[in-house]
Amino acid sequence: MKPVVLALLLTTLTTLNATDAVSAQNPAAIRIAKFKGDRTAAVSMTLDDGLRNQDEFAVPLLNKYDIKATFYVIPGLTPETNEEAAVKKPGDHGGMSWLRLKELAAQGHEIANHTWTHLPLTKTKDGERLDMEPAMMDAQIGRAYVAIKERIGIAPFTFATPGNANSEVVRAAGHKYHPVIREHCERFGAWPPTSKDFTAAQAKAMVDRYLKKGEALVWMMHAVTEGYNAFSGPDVLEDHLKYLRSKDDVLWIDTFAHVSRYAMERDTAKLSGSSSADHAEFTLAGPLEADVFHDPLTIVLPADHATKVEARYKKSGEKLPLEVRADKILVQVIPSDQSVEVTWRRIQK
Ligand SMILES: [Zn+2]
Repeated sequence: MKPVVLALLLTTLTTLNATDAVSAQNPAAIRIAKFKGDRTAAVSMTLDDGLRNQDEFAVPLLNKYDIKATFYVIPGLTPETNEEAAVKKPGDHGGMSWLRLKELAAQGHEIANHTWTHLPLTKTKDGERLDMEPAMMDAQIGRAYVAIKERIGIAPFTFATPGNANSEVVRAAGHKYHPVIREHCERFGAWPPTSKDFTAAQAKAMVDRYLKKGEALVWMMHAVTEGYNAFSGPDVLEDHLKYLRSKDDVLWIDTFAHVSRYAMERDTAKLSGSSSADHAEFTLAGPLEADVFHDPLTIVLPADHATKVEARYKKSGEKLPLEVRADKILVQVIPSDQSVEVTWRRIQK
């Protein structure tokens, strides 16, 4: 909770969230950035089915451009060793071994849940929805969740259903284990490459659309070179990754877990505090479980030509990471009940 003494000290007390505009009457208002680094939009690359084709063509490019991606894997079809994986065809489900997935996780990629053996959890027959029997559905999702948690050491935060087939029953079963489900139309716009001859120009146009909307785009792809929802080839993928990097100042590129966790924290956190010409004090309180929702949010403090900036927890004195821009200071803060103090000076011209 916000200490009473803090409220008394503040000349103006505001409670803001990301959707509140900074009013012209209150230019010193502090706010939660919509996306990390106060960027305009976000992009996540998600790759389904644990295909070796992804390891051959996508992983080297993702790592070359330092882009962290999300791999939706199928634990029940995932072999232990690289030798066992090598027996599979490049487009077969579960073509990357646990050993390999661990390496990808260590590189910062997200290993996420795509069910135990990739059976359809729901389908429509004669216009009627047929969901998988509940215990079987729970086993498909829960067994895969536990396997990833144990093997990778990180509980999967996001879930994608086989064939992206969803129903209210499937959503409830997925949310039992995962805060976020990747879908076409829920909170985030998840899109496959649009055709077999998908071009870099089409990919760029999609990102530009999301930059205009100021929302999070989720690429939903499979192999790079062949099969269903492929990215047309390594040259098209590389062109696109280069384009994403060229938009670094306005586009946040990260795993779907990081982007979606940020959005959930952002939409529930309450920022209380105020900012003056050289000083700010605030508390960023969040109602979500701290052991799952532990990513910092970017707090934006309007400040012209700031120098000698310091941000710290008021009580412990522990310093917080920050960036200084021409007209603002960006402080990375994990939601908690601790108050934060930021001090700076203005460069004299
Ligand atoms: Zn799949």
